[in-house]
Amino acid sequence: MRLIKPSRPNVYTGGTLNRAAHRREDAAWILAAQADAAARYVVFWQGEALITGMAERAPRAQLVARPAVETSAVFLGLQDGAPVFAVDFSAAENPYEAIDAGDAEFTDMRAITGALQADDATILATARAMLHWQAQTRFCSVCGGRNAPQKAGYVMECSACHTEHFPRTDPAVIMLVAKADRLLLGQSHKFPKERNFYSTLAGFVEPGESLEDAVRREVFEEVGVQVGEVHYHSSQPWPFPASLMLGFYAEALTEEIVLDTVEMRDAGWFTREQINQRNSLGFDLPPQDSIARRLIDDWMEGASGT
Ligand SMILES: [Zn+2]
Repeated sequence: MRLIKPSRPNVYTGGTLNRAAHRREDAAWILAAQADAAARYVVFWQGEALITGMAERAPRAQLVARPAVETSAVFLGLQDGAPVFAVDFSAAENPYEAIDAGDAEFTDMRAITGALQADDATILATARAMLHWQAQTRFCSVCGGRNAPQKAGYVMECSACHTEHFPRTDPAVIMLVAKADRLLLGQSHKFPKERNFYSTLAGFVEPGESLEDAVRREVFEEVGVQVGEVHYHSSQPWPFPASLMLGFYAEALTEEIVLDTVEMRDAGWFTREQINQRNSLGFDLPPQDSIARRLIDDWMEGASGT
């Protein structure tokens, strides 16, 4: 099987945020950093990020000065030397009251994913994932006691039994199945029907399972095709709410498709010519900012000249 390298970084990767993880346990340093005039705060409200530049179609993360209200903040790291924190204003009725938002508005990141610069995308992805995890970890899963953030927000510690809970991210495999010069693409019921796009298969890794075995299991479950060789391509944090997408190429050993109709609307084998002529054939591929699309585009590019 041909090895295909990533043509460029995936969205939500490549940012220059220095996580400065060694500072998280230094409470005095964190307090000083929070009070630093250069410190900037990423504000989220009910899962949405504060974004400016929407009117000019050049969205940017709007980082603000320290909010007027006292709230626990997650230390994300240093961006260009300045401390960056994330705060969640979800409980506020009017989140604009405590900050100078300028013309920025709370916005669903998914609508602007591909338009963000790498540094902004990395900061927002980290902030969204951390704040979601904190919101979901208010109580101890061991004893039911109340958790409180420690270590700059990277630990939620139980006030009763002192169990430490750590941030989680859920690995999901996403794989482009190929056989000779054809690709196996599917359409999940989750995709909007009117868009009629065909994409790679995907699924969550289960406990006790290798990534390669997860690829083979998911492909067999969804389309009944057996997979042999599996090669890693690239990864993409996907904080909606807590995934890490791990992209692979998978070589099919069989061709017959047995569709899992509960999950999938359709699946089929596509030639390069069909994919190139998708507009006239009436189907589409997943959005440019997705790792699924990167896998397909890189395969098309890598397969050219053969
Ligand atoms: Zn506990």
